[in-house]
Amino acid sequence: MSRAWLPSPELLRELFYTALKIGAVGLLGSFVGLGWQAAVLALAVCLLTHLRYLVRLRIWFASPKQAELPIAGGTWGEVFDGLLNLQKRNRKRKRRLAAILSEFQASTEALPDGAVVLGSSGEIVWFNPAAQALLGLRVQQDVGLRIANLVRKPAFTEYFSRDDYSGEVECESPVNIGTMLSFRIIPYGNGQRLMIVRDVSDMRRLETARRDFVANASHELRTPLTVLRGYLDVMEPDCHTGGSLFEWRTPIAEMRAQATRMEALIGDLLKLARLESDLINTRQDVLDVPRMLARVEQEARSLSQGKHRIEFDIQPALRLYGREAETQSIFTNLVSNAVHYTPEKGIISVRWSGDDQGAQFQVADSGIGIEEKDLPRITERFYRVDIGRSRASGGTGLGLSIVKHAIEHLEGRMTIESEVGVGSTFTCHFPVHRVHDGASRQELRNSIG
Ligand code: ADP
Repeated sequence: MSRAWLPSPELLRELFYTALKIGAVGLLGSFVGLGWQAAVLALAVCLLTHLRYLVRLRIWFASPKQAELPIAGGTWGEVFDGLLNLQKRNRKRKRRLAAILSEFQASTEALPDGAVVLGSSGEIVWFNPAAQALLGLRVQQDVGLRIANLVRKPAFTEYFSRDDYSGEVECESPVNIGTMLSFRIIPYGNGQRLMIVRDVSDMRRLETARRDFVANASHELRTPLTVLRGYLDVMEPDCHTGGSLFEWRTPIAEMRAQATRMEALIGDLLKLARLESDLINTRQDVLDVPRMLARVEQEARSLSQGKHRIEFDIQPALRLYGREAETQSIFTNLVSNAVHYTPEKGIISVRWSGDDQGAQFQVADSGIGIEEKDLPRITERFYRVDIGRSRASGGTGLGLSIVKHAIEHLEGRMTIESEVGVGSTFTCHFPVHRVHDGASRQELRNSIG
């Protein structure tokens, strides 16, 4: 049964004390024959006291800093003490928050990276001095403006409009020509975003210098190597025909093998330097992948010399937008690795297929496999699981690095599955917009339908 209609114990207590006071005053008054008048007077005093405290409370609420709460006993005293305690706690909390806020502001001001807080529709809510310098933001005018209207760079616009903010985007500063900025967006709260801006110009300059050095050094090494090879070419026939250099035939053969290896290394280094200096390949050549793979199949068979079972399963009209030389190096490197790292009688299956997600190039072998711990590092330059084996197979240690960069240029990605002693599967995934329309799309539809 509901007890809402019952008076609360506090109210009963208050009524009891008030009645007691009035009763006591009335009793005293009755000694001089003025009982009820004394009781009414006591009631009036009680009422006035309540009204006075009520008014003081109202004044205090209006301006708690200027007004003071009266000192009172009883229930009013408890109420006033409670309010003063509450006020004290609030002041303490406010002071603590202010200290945290000023510490946060001091630390963000000291931050060398720009930080911009963006609201749910991309408007600027707050930024630190570094962001002011890097992006040319103005405190008064730019708060409330949309960041996309201030940083008008295609790469940034594309990144900003994405749903997924994984990774970073780099583009030139909107205010300082020649300054490269890296943008990273971190979503939080209810549609808010924190944008971190870093000046990466020095890093990019260093990278360019390193790349140029490797490219120039490789290029310079080519000339002396050509001279050495020229002499070896002259000397070699003399060894075979039993001439004066016959005794030198073994060292000369070794010198030729090493010169060939060095040539391959220089070739790969130059290829990698070229790949690294280019951004996403925007040139839209239509690559006849099935024709390119027919050549790769021939090369694989001649490399294997009949020691492996090699199967090619190619979707005949599936083409790709890209650059021929770098796409060819993806195919050649993966297939030649499969031949090199698969023992005799092993199976190598190459597939080129498409679906509604894009196109896939897959090379599966029943070879020696790769340990799980090596998988994350396998595409690093010069990383080899077994250096001796790689050298014996004529490997430069740069093949998978070239493959990784070339795939990135095609906006694709590579996945590797492998088990030691069972084999490896390398799959390159290319996005659907890289797949050539027309016959290939028709074929895609047929294969899906
Ligand atoms: P390399 O010139 O040494 O072959 P790569 O960059 O092409 O250099 O490959 C790096 C390393 O990855 C190789 O040394 C080899 O240990 C391993 N690897 C690559 N492909 C395969 C494969 N199909 N099976 C087993 N190991 C492989």
